Amino acid sequence: MKIIHTSVRLKGKEKHNCQFCDKVEASYLLRTSDLMINKTIDINYVCSSCKEKLDYNQINECSECGRLKKNPTKKCLCVYMKENGLGLEDNSDSDDDYNPLELERQINTLQEEKNQLVEEVDTHLEAPEVSKD
Ligand SMILES: [Zn+2]
Ligand SMILES: [Zn+2]
Repeated sequence: MKIIHTSVRLKGKEKHNCQFCDKVEASYLLRTSDLMINKTIDINYVCSSCKEKLDYNQINECSECGRLKKNPTKKCLCVYMKENGLGLEDNSDSDDDYNPLELERQINTLQEEKNQLVEEVDTHLEAPEVSKD
């Protein structure tokens, strides 16, 4: 496990509450990745003051998986997944075991992140369109 956190500033039109204090509008999309398995394991919306806390290591990581703890009293996603026999690494053989809501939530956040990244690329690169004809 080798955890890194990366953040992207949200565009003005995106409205999300900070998932760490749940009071303030988020300013950043925060991605937690595990370099050992080369995967994004968590995506969160975070406000600027919570991001500052994170920068000063004032937000705890789960010791099991490295995901940031949004709420100390709440179970980490990895505990939830362990209890339900789920895993991000070996999800190919047992799709039926997935909690649909949780999966949907993950797909949504990934989709949102993808849109975000596409937008970033669009604005920064202005790459020429590639024709497949
Ligand atoms: Zn916050
Ligand atoms: Zn965890």
